[in-house]
Amino acid sequence: MTASPTINLLDYDRAGLEAYFTARGEQPFRATQLMKWIYGQGVTDFAAMTNISKALRAGLAAGTSIRLPEIAADDVSDDGSRKWLFRLEDGNCIETVFIPEADRGTLCVSSQVGCMLNCSFCSTASQGFNRNLSTGEIIAQVWMAAHLLGQRPDTPRQVSNVVMMGMGEPLLNYDNVVRAIRIMLDDYGYGLSKRRVTLSTAGVIPAIRQLREDCDVSLAVSLHAPDDALRNELVPLNRKYPIGELLDSCREYVGEGRRRVTFEYVMLAGINDTDRHARELVRCLRGVPAKVNLIPFNPFPATRYRRSDQSRIDRFFAILNRAGIVTITRRTRGDDIDAACGQLAGEFRDRTRRRERVQATIQVQGHVQ
Ligand code: SAH
Repeated sequence: MTASPTINLLDYDRAGLEAYFTARGEQPFRATQLMKWIYGQGVTDFAAMTNISKALRAGLAAGTSIRLPEIAADDVSDDGSRKWLFRLEDGNCIETVFIPEADRGTLCVSSQVGCMLNCSFCSTASQGFNRNLSTGEIIAQVWMAAHLLGQRPDTPRQVSNVVMMGMGEPLLNYDNVVRAIRIMLDDYGYGLSKRRVTLSTAGVIPAIRQLREDCDVSLAVSLHAPDDALRNELVPLNRKYPIGELLDSCREYVGEGRRRVTFEYVMLAGINDTDRHARELVRCLRGVPAKVNLIPFNPFPATRYRRSDQSRIDRFFAILNRAGIVTITRRTRGDDIDAACGQLAGEFRDRTRRRERVQATIQVQGHVQ
């Protein structure tokens, strides 16, 4: 997949690095030493890693590398959000967005070059799909953001939260995404708590179940419709994994504790935003520990949808709220630089035919552990 012949150390989580060192007759603690340099200090030059012996540094320099993307574009929005277009080794470009707020800094990370799911209201979908990102390409987005924002180990983190809500369906790139998340959570990686890392999925049920076993970070589900007929149209993956079963897997995911699943609901004028839809949504979420995140639709060229009026969004909000569902309306950030939800496009060549994508998605299921 990559042109470079050497191992990319960013592809390994701590367990992987320990195995790497042990296989070469080194002590496993070299893994945490190395991680502290790479993720804590932001150092990628082996020569600067002074607590590692010269011989080992030379070995690392000869047999491995720490590979980062190039910055193809770096745009800052009027509201302070920032969008990077990163060029990968094979020339494909992906997007990563940083959203600063008073009490946190959220990084929106991509998991695939494009997407196979073909959701009808999403710009990434209209671009097609090229390939999965490697673990290294996923975690490098966090490394680059931390570096470019000047994050230092001794000051509060600039990137305090990560949302896997960029380009792609993270649960269709399961192994690489989980490995990257392990690095985000690792004390020797970025040390983020599970609460501060959110994975957003269109609803790949077997992978949701697996995620609960492997690393139960916060879960967001792109629901967007309260009934299967409408959801089949908006999120074609629903034909494979319908709402009822999806909500069962969400209930299992959070278990008996105090956690909730966030349900994302894009507000599309005249499509899914009437009072009736709101009431159906209330009914459908009964018994599910839920928060609802209403996302005003962000338009992109050639879309057939329109954003619901603010008064409509307010009314929809009020119905959910009155029914006791914790609801927020997501403020649109970064739309002047096309960095808002669903506007991430990157630059890459589609390798699928649109019709084949959903089909391919369904076939991929066998590979989701
Ligand atoms: N594939 C994952 C990750 C994408 S996250 C998922 O489906 O959850 C991006 C979020 O933005 C999803 O909730 C997605 O449905 C939403 N979205 C996509 N296009 C949008 C648009 N044009 N306007 C607003 N939200 C959009």
